[in-house]
Amino acid sequence: MEITTIEPIPLAHTLSAGLGDARGFGRDRATTLLRLETDTGLVGWGEAFVPGSIAEATIEELFAEDVVGMDPFDVESLAERSYTDPYHFGEAVFVQSVVSAIDVACWDLIGKEVGRPVHRLLGGRSVETLVPYASTMYFTETERPLAEPIEAAVDEGFTAAKIKIGTGVEEDEERVRTARDILGPDARLMVDMNGNYRPEQAVRSGRAIAEYDVEWIEEPVPPENLSGYEEVKRHVETALAAGEAHYGRFEFKRLIDGAVDIVQPNLARCGGLSEARTIAKLATTENVGVRPHIWNSAVGLAAAVQFAASVPAYPHSRTAPDPMMVEFDRSENPMRTEILETPFDPSGGELAVPQEPGLGIEVDEDAVAELRADR
Ligand SMILES: [Mg+2]
Repeated sequence: MEITTIEPIPLAHTLSAGLGDARGFGRDRATTLLRLETDTGLVGWGEAFVPGSIAEATIEELFAEDVVGMDPFDVESLAERSYTDPYHFGEAVFVQSVVSAIDVACWDLIGKEVGRPVHRLLGGRSVETLVPYASTMYFTETERPLAEPIEAAVDEGFTAAKIKIGTGVEEDEERVRTARDILGPDARLMVDMNGNYRPEQAVRSGRAIAEYDVEWIEEPVPPENLSGYEEVKRHVETALAAGEAHYGRFEFKRLIDGAVDIVQPNLARCGGLSEARTIAKLATTENVGVRPHIWNSAVGLAAAVQFAASVPAYPHSRTAPDPMMVEFDRSENPMRTEILETPFDPSGGELAVPQEPGLGIEVDEDAVAELRADR
C-alpha cells in the first residue's frame, strides 16, 4: 500500500459573539484537515490544529515529497524524520501539528487495511464507551446567566464538567461554587485557568476553591512557566494538569518530571497517535495521569477518543479512583458537529468509542467543503 495523494483542507468558522477564557475572547476558529489517499483506494483522515495556510506551507515545504509514495505502516518513521530532516525543526509546533495530521491519517489507513479500530491497534483492550466531561462555562462577550451552561450540560446527562476560571479569586470561587451547586456532590468538576496567573495568584485561587472538590486545575500559570508549575504544586493539594500547548515527547517529559499530575496531549498537535503513545508511556513511568485535550474538529476528536480508549485509566491498580474521561467542548463548532455522517453524541453521560476500522468515522466531504476557509 502506498500513499498517492496528500491534501490539506483548511477549515474556518466565525462565531457570532466572542467566546473565551481568562485570557480574552475570540471569534475565529481555524484548523486543517488532512486527507490521504492510497493506491488501494483507501482514504485516511487526520487533523493539524493550526490554520490552513501554515499547515499547507509546512506540508509543501517539508513533507509532501516524502509522504507521497510512503507505506502508511511506516508511520513511526515520521516522528524520527521530524527531528532529523530538517535538522532542528522537530520542536516547532507547526511541524509537530503537521506530523500529527499525517500520523493520525496513517493510523486511520492502517486500521482500514486490517479491519480494526485504532484503539485496538494501539494495544488497548476493547472499550465500548468513555465518560465525556463537558468543557463549558466559557467567558462570553455578551451577558448571560452564569449557571445556564452548566444547567444545560446537566440536563443532557453530563456527570462531569470543566469550567473556565482565572480572573480573580472572588470570581473564581463564585464560578466554582455555582458549578458545584448545580452538578451536585458526586459529579466530577475540573477548572481551567488558561495560564492567566502568576504562581502566587494561582495558589490563592487554588486554595479558595479547594473546598468544592476540584479534580484538577488546568494551566494555572502560562505553559512556558515550568518553575511556576512547580511552585503552585508545592502549595496546592489539587492535582495540576497541562499539555494542550505542548508538543512532542521532549516537552512532555519536562512536564512529567515533577511539574504536573496529569498531561493532556492534543492529538492534532502533540505529534499524533504515535507520539501520544510515547507520552503516555513516559507518564506511566512517573505515575502521571493522561487525559487528552480536545478542542478540535470531529477528526481530532475521533483520534483522541481512540487514543483515550487505548490508555489504561489507572495503570498501577485494578480499581480506578479517577477513571478515564474525554473532553467534550460545548461551544459552537460546526467543525465538530457537522462533518461526520454520524456525529459524536455525549448525551446521557456516555460517549461511544467507534468500533469500525481506523478512526471509525465517516467524513461527510460535502459538509467539509462548506466549511473550507478558502471557499
Ligand atoms: Mg485548557
